Amino acid sequence: MPEIHPFKRLRTWTLRAAADQGQIIRVSCNLCRITHNYLPDDLEKLSGNLQLDRLLTKFKCDRCGKRDYLQMKLHFPHGSEYGSLKIRRLKDIRTVTVPVWLDDVLR
Ligand SMILES: [Zn+2]
Repeated sequence: MPEIHPFKRLRTWTLRAAADQGQIIRVSCNLCRITHNYLPDDLEKLSGNLQLDRLLTKFKCDRCGKRDYLQMKLHFPHGSEYGSLKIRRLKDIRTVTVPVWLDDVLR
């Protein structure tokens, strides 16, 4: 059976599908050498049920602030990882108010 290219697999796979399969989304910055594990459920609350090939554009590295070195993988947790694998959980979603100014004349 031919090997399916990982990118094609991600394109047909969604956050909901990953959540249903018990998969973890693992995002690494190759510059800072940091990896965080996310639950697909948490990411779906933020961005909706995205296809996984579009998900990485939503991330930015906490440390270097760049997107260029980010890499995403799907991870199937092993039984021994339950209770020990570090997960970055969604604690809260804050809505920020941003002023939009328009320069006008006195009327
Ligand atoms: Zn980084």
